[in-house]
Amino acid sequence: MPQQDQTTDLVLREALEANGQRFTEQRAAVYRFLASTDKHPTADEVFLAVRSEVPVISLATVYKSLETLVGCGLAMKLTYGDGSARYDGRTDPHHHARCLSCSRIFDVGGHLPPEELDDLEEGTEGFQVTGYRLELTGYCSRCGKEQAEA
Ligand code: ZN
Ligand code: MN
Repeated sequence: MPQQDQTTDLVLREALEANGQRFTEQRAAVYRFLASTDKHPTADEVFLAVRSEVPVISLATVYKSLETLVGCGLAMKLTYGDGSARYDGRTDPHHHARCLSCSRIFDVGGHLPPEELDDLEEGTEGFQVTGYRLELTGYCSRCGKEQAEA
């Protein structure tokens, strides 16, 4: 087993045990894939990717494994107004850009200046802000080009 997978499995094992959950090969395969990609896959995409490694895995198991990972703090679930969801194996604070044409999600660096946050908090009538999420929407480089050519 590659070194990277061993590390990933160890992280998973500890997080599962801390949350009273069992380590399983299915969960490990799902987590390995999620930790290896920056593409923010849907459950269907995770299913297609891990099926080659764990042929007996079902879509339902993939769903449940993903939710378990989210519950253990090893993944983030990004939900959208149309009911679709994508999963992110990167859990440190970061922001996203979403393409309105192909629905792909990209990580975005940077953060708002603190005074900008203070301004926003002032307009909330006493809401205590502890964090924020920023989603940029628009067209990715691929789709933007198509828009320009159309
Ligand atoms: Zn796009
Ligand atoms: Mn992300």
